[in-house]
Amino acid sequence: MTRTGGCRCGSIRYTLAAEPLATRLCWCRDCQYWALGNAAVNIMVPRAAVTVAGTPRHFDSQADSGNRMRRSFCADCGTQLFSESSGNLANMVIRVGTLDDASGITPTVVIWTASAPAWAHIDPALQAFPAQPG
Ligand SMILES: [Zn+2]
Ligand SMILES: [Zn+2]
Repeated sequence: MTRTGGCRCGSIRYTLAAEPLATRLCWCRDCQYWALGNAAVNIMVPRAAVTVAGTPRHFDSQADSGNRMRRSFCADCGTQLFSESSGNLANMVIRVGTLDDASGITPTVVIWTASAPAWAHIDPALQAFPAQPG
């Protein structure tokens, strides 16, 4: 099934032509910025299955692992769209909130629970990792 999505203002659009490899909630400190204090909801997808129209801006940083992280966002409306790691060039992450229809997407894993605030509800039905899974 092909999914479509984009940023809030429509300057950046994308097509995803593969099923997600994983659907994860992420409580890492970085995601708490992008997700405004909550966990981010992310799908890992094959990079080759994603086609982007428009030109996102990037923010590059270094992860605890030493990998270079690139987060892509719309410079017009600020929507966070993608993240990519130098440690996983075959795949990339899409922020689930940018899908036109995310109704078929259900998280099965939660990561970086050790960074979550005390009020966070960690669903016991999810496979949980205190930090980045190996
Ligand atoms: Zn936009
Ligand atoms: Zn994260």
